[in-house]
Parts: sequence; C-alpha cells; structure tokens
Amino acid sequence: MKKVLNRSLLTWFLAIAFFIGLGYFVVNLVIHSSEWAQKPMNAHLSVTGLAQAGDIYDRNGVLLATSIDGERYYSNDYSTRLAMLHTVGDDSVNISTALQSVYRTGLTGYNYILGLGLPDSFRSSSDINTTLDSAACAAAYNAMSKNNYKGACVVYNYKTGEVICDVSTPSYDPYEPVTIKEGDHTYDGVYLDNVISSTYPPGSTFKLVTAAAALETIEGSENRLLYCEGSKIIGGEYVTCVEPHGEINMKDAMAVSCNIYFAELAVELGPEKMTEYAEAMGFNKSFKLDANDIAMSRFSVKDADTAALAWSGVGQYTDMANPMHMAMICSAIANGGTPTEPYILESVNSLFNFKNILTDTHGKNGTRMIKSSTASKLGEMMRFTVSDYYGDSMFGDLHVAAKTGTAEVANGEPDGWIVGYVTDEGCPLAFAVCIEHGGFGFSSAGPVAYAALAASAKAVRGY
Ligand SMILES: [Zn+2]
Repeated sequence: MKKVLNRSLLTWFLAIAFFIGLGYFVVNLVIHSSEWAQKPMNAHLSVTGLAQAGDIYDRNGVLLATSIDGERYYSNDYSTRLAMLHTVGDDSVNISTALQSVYRTGLTGYNYILGLGLPDSFRSSSDINTTLDSAACAAAYNAMSKNNYKGACVVYNYKTGEVICDVSTPSYDPYEPVTIKEGDHTYDGVYLDNVISSTYPPGSTFKLVTAAAALETIEGSENRLLYCEGSKIIGGEYVTCVEPHGEINMKDAMAVSCNIYFAELAVELGPEKMTEYAEAMGFNKSFKLDANDIAMSRFSVKDADTAALAWSGVGQYTDMANPMHMAMICSAIANGGTPTEPYILESVNSLFNFKNILTDTHGKNGTRMIKSSTASKLGEMMRFTVSDYYGDSMFGDLHVAAKTGTAEVANGEPDGWIVGYVTDEGCPLAFAVCIEHGGFGFSSAGPVAYAALAASAKAVRGY
C-alpha cells in the first residue's frame, strides 16, 4: 500500500512539474515573442516578412516606406530616400540601427503563435510614426552630398526631444544597394548612422566643456585676460593658434577659438576636474536614442602629460565625441543646464508587438550637466560667437548660438564641426554637424547646419 502511495505521489509530482514547466514556457513565449523573433537565428522570418510590413511616416504623415503586393517601396523622391536611408533602413539589415532593422518584428506583424503564417487580413502589421521631417533631412542631405561630404547632421527640439533631422553620409538608394569593392573608399562606413554610431575628435567644440569646468571651478575665470601671441610652450610643447589673438577674455577666446586660452585653463584645472566635468557633460557615458545605444564620447587623461592635458582641453589628444551627444550638450546649455533626451519614434499604431519599444526616456529631461548660471554664460558666449564674430547672416533669419571646431585628425584634412542651438522662442532647435575631413568647421559644417536648420525651423514654426 505504501509503495502505491509513493508511486502515486511521484506521478503527481511529475505531472505538476510538467505543467509548471509548460506554463513557464507559454508565458515566456507570449511575453518575449518579439525578442525571439528578432534573434539573428530567426532572421529568415524577418527578411521574408518585410514584403508585408507596415508603413513608416515622417512627422507630417509623409510616407517613407510601405509594402504593396509583396514589394517594399520607399519615398518617391530620390533625395528623401537617400536622406532617410539610415533611419528608415532598406530591405537588408545591414544598417542595424535603422527602424526597419530594429523594429522589423513589429513592422511585419509577427504573431507569437503562428509566426508569419497568418493570412494578411488577420495580421497586425504596425505602422510607425516618426518625429523626423523628411524635407529637413533631404535639405541637409543635399547640402552634404553636393560637396561629397561624409559625416553627420542632427537637429532636435531641445524642449520636446523630437529629432527633426538625422542624416548620415555616405548614403545610397535603398532601391540600389551598394556593393563595396576592395580599395574603393567611396562607401566606407556606409552602414553606420554617423549621428548615432560614430565618434570624431571634437576639436574646439570641446572648449564648451573646458569653459564650463573653469566657470564653475576657477573664480573670476571668465574675466581673466590673456595675451595670445599665436603660440606658447605648454608642458614642453608648442600649443598654437591659427593667428595671434592679442588680449582676450574668455568670451573673446571662445569666439575666436583661442587654443592657448583653453589649453592653459585645462592645465590649471588638472586631470581630475577636467574628467569630472567631461563626465558630467556626458563623456564616458551611455545614452540612448529609442532602442539604439549612442556611441560613447570619450575623454581620458589618466596617462596624459601636461602637454597632452593642454591639448585635451581643446578637443584634441584622445578626445572623441558623438554628434547626437554634442547636440545634447547644446540642448543642456539652451535649457538651463539639463539636456532633453532625444527620440525619433513618435508612436506606433499597433501595440500588439510593440508594447515595450517606447522607451522611458521618451522626451524626458536627462541628468543635469552644468549649473544653470554656467549654461547661461556659455549660451551668451556662443551667441556672441555668431552675432559678433561670424555674423548672423550665416543663419538667415534665425538667431543662433554656436561653436565651431576644426579637429586635427591622423591623416588628411581636419574634421569640421559646428554645434549649437537656435535662441528664438518658438523654434527650440539644438544641432550638431560634423564633416569628415571638411576643413574649417565654419565653412564646411556651417552651411550644412544652416540648410538643416532653415528646413527644420519651417517644420517647427510652420513658416
Ligand atoms: Zn589664441
């Protein structure tokens, strides 16, 4: 009798264990089906599925991608197709950060029980609405491609976090995917969205960080005068300027981009303070743009001697910066010290497979980078740089606060940068443009920024 009871208990135990296991599997299948479908081993599901995937729209409802009778179609406009390539994607998953790569499961309406086996009418393929303005992206793309520029251009609303313009070059037509030939560098890095996935030496745009550290640490530093003779030995090495700048305070030094002024401040601040402020402003930190990780900007002076520390303070040495992150720094300056988290994914019309993709940071404020008083001082300096040094005509009817950079690189012409924001009420746009080997930031990145800003302003203001 006891034996029978034992056997019966064992049977019950096994049965219960089986149902617990089954229950666990089913719950997991339901909860994590989207992730499973996105695993590389299940890529066959996705590639075939795109032919029936949902639509992708810009902020005005302009159709960027759709599927008709099993074919995937993109914008009718050539410039728009190339401008949107890195955010929309193509039929492949080569551009891993593109919407059609990241959200392919949701777009195709992958069903957790039947996979893609449901008849079309029962599928819940989802449409994606983005914050992007396709006209602004096309304008930025045209400004870059007419000079064969490679690089990144991003404009975003520093009050709401909406990314209006995100363009990466080189690009290609999604209808004509490129074949990369050995020895041909035309399409180097073509699968990277440079706005999200690349970093470049920041050059003089990094002076914003050095200035912030000095303003908050060294009393009276903004009024400190320096006589710039065009070159000076710091830590045994020559630090040079483009030309002698004469007697200048910090505001003048920012406007004329005096290397000696900021190199000396970096040395005086020392490696700990410089690192503290670089990190407070987002260097060595991770940020996200929707589901994508933004490439980390880097600042490291732990092995730097005095000369290297001096150069690190003007955005050289081993400093690296990501364009989206630089735009976030400008957002912080515009917002009294706190950046807005950027996002592209506005909404999705079906929550069936998409319930987890609208991130927590969607348009929220990020962590404070600098004090509010520092933000307003930096903002004044950047505004002065444009109004009194470059001239407002550079940006049409927009009032812009900006900092350019011309960053020396290992081989070839320097990278050209411009970062900043529009000060006009009703047009809260922060931006960053980096042109690889573009030379002077003012003349290479500047016109691209203007093209992107003028079109983005139209999208935000309506005129
Ligand atoms: Zn100088």
